[in-house]
Amino acid sequence: MSELKSYTISEFEKYVDDLRVSRDISLIQVHHTYSPSYKQFTGNNHITLQSNMRSYHIKTNGWSDIAQHFTIFPDGVVVTGRSLEMIPAGIKGANSGAICIECLGNFDRGGDKMRDLQKCAIAAVIRILADKFGINPETGIVYHSWWTSDGKKIGDYNATKSSKTCPGTNFFGGNSRSAFEKNLLPLITQYNNKKDSTQPLKSVESINDIIWELCNACIITDSNLWMKKCKEDNNTYWLCRKMANYLRGTL
Ligand SMILES: [Zn+2]
Repeated sequence: MSELKSYTISEFEKYVDDLRVSRDISLIQVHHTYSPSYKQFTGNNHITLQSNMRSYHIKTNGWSDIAQHFTIFPDGVVVTGRSLEMIPAGIKGANSGAICIECLGNFDRGGDKMRDLQKCAIAAVIRILADKFGINPETGIVYHSWWTSDGKKIGDYNATKSSKTCPGTNFFGGNSRSAFEKNLLPLITQYNNKKDSTQPLKSVESINDIIWELCNACIITDSNLWMKKCKEDNNTYWLCRKMANYLRGTL
């Protein structure tokens, strides 16, 4: 079994860049762990939690290894799991050709409120992997809830037919295909994978773009708070704008 290693997003980008995978990959599965959730995350027990999940999947579920290839933690850190050379144990009927990503937390309604750092990391990880394996984000990203428990594809969440609510009824506004297209897909397509950009970047001025840039670089954690600050105080806006353009290389 492969060693469990943790990466920041910029380290993850480099790690994926250097990867050589012989298995054909055409699909990215998105899940939430449900348990463990935010309650079990202490801020520095990434590897312990991942290792506990591995033990549970092997000893209790009888699988050969941890189900997922990657787990994304509330602080935006990514931890590796099963080798990418192996098919995951993620969605019955959709495992061959897939990468399985787990987002640590319970994102059903009434569960954990996802931190901005984790939101950014989820969009980033998906984009980095999609670029690496030539996957179109519009067609190649799937939620567990779009399948039945006997492995039939529904293509959307259906409360009576879906095997699970996973990745959660409140995951980026919901676990339906339309919630994905409205809330997560734009973050994935906007993610600025700098090394792959062929067009010169434009400087950012709008508060939304500025905050997105700072969030993307994991400099701020509460985007709503900083949007409010930028709207209320011109000096804060000016500083954030400088920072955002510095990060983009457009200052
Ligand atoms: Zn799932």
